[in-house]
Amino acid sequence: MEKYSITLTLAICGLLCGNAFAKVSLFACEPEWEALAKEIGGKNVEVFSATHAKQDPHHIRARPSFISKIRRADLVICSGAGLEAGWLPILIQKASARVQPGAVGYLMASDFVNILEVPTSVDRSMGDVHPEGNPHVHLNPHNILLVATELSQRLNKIDAGNIDFYNERFQKFSFRWKQAIVQWESDAASLGGTPVIVHHKSFIYLISWLNLSQKGSLEPRPGIPPTVSHLEDLLKKLKQGDPVDVIMRAPYDSAEASEWLSRQTGIPAVMMPYTVGGDSESKDLFSLFDRSITLLKQAASAIK
Ligand SMILES: [Zn+2]
Repeated sequence: MEKYSITLTLAICGLLCGNAFAKVSLFACEPEWEALAKEIGGKNVEVFSATHAKQDPHHIRARPSFISKIRRADLVICSGAGLEAGWLPILIQKASARVQPGAVGYLMASDFVNILEVPTSVDRSMGDVHPEGNPHVHLNPHNILLVATELSQRLNKIDAGNIDFYNERFQKFSFRWKQAIVQWESDAASLGGTPVIVHHKSFIYLISWLNLSQKGSLEPRPGIPPTVSHLEDLLKKLKQGDPVDVIMRAPYDSAEASEWLSRQTGIPAVMMPYTVGGDSESKDLFSLFDRSITLLKQAASAIK
């Protein structure tokens, strides 16, 4: 009788106690949020990133395999502000109540930072892909800290049994991150005022943080590929003496336009990592910023 009772207890526990040991399941839209989730969640979370660094996060196909991932998710963490407008809403429709807008499990980074380049009118000057302002918020490390703070609070609510674990990891990350920011700001002080051209407006948070000066973009409007006439206009301005030190692009931007402009002008064209995994050096959030500053300094010193 006792034997049956133990068997029954184990069987019931198999059904009901499983979640006590299960990891919190996170669905990240981009690699930067996957990396942040691992920093804060450590061994208690299982993170899936829907995209990698070589993919343009504006244009992703909502693959069927994403549906099973998002259905399991306890928390969805994305940039928001329209970056994933073409694919995330379809997935969220198929997901559980835990990750619907307004739920604890729905975290859009852009809701917790100051959004730049918000259009002041509906003239579409910000193009088709940035109607709510610039959604590429992760390239200012102060924004990363704001999102990390919110993420740790969400994990505390979702997995209340491990509050101490998440708080300790957040405190350690926060301490290291603030030290790193001081170092980056010191290392990059000489970059202040550096004039740059970008392929797509993916870098405005980095540009604003480091006090660089964005002089133009190879896309005539965000999301509209470079045209010959737009590139010739840019070249004319550069030849008329409006100097630029660096042409920046993300790993998923076509190299063609920036390499062409570089050949015409001698201005270095640089593929920035943009996110974690964007090049072999950018393995986590810390090295992403290390590498970004190193590349900018190399390019700026090459032209002087
Ligand atoms: Zn964009």
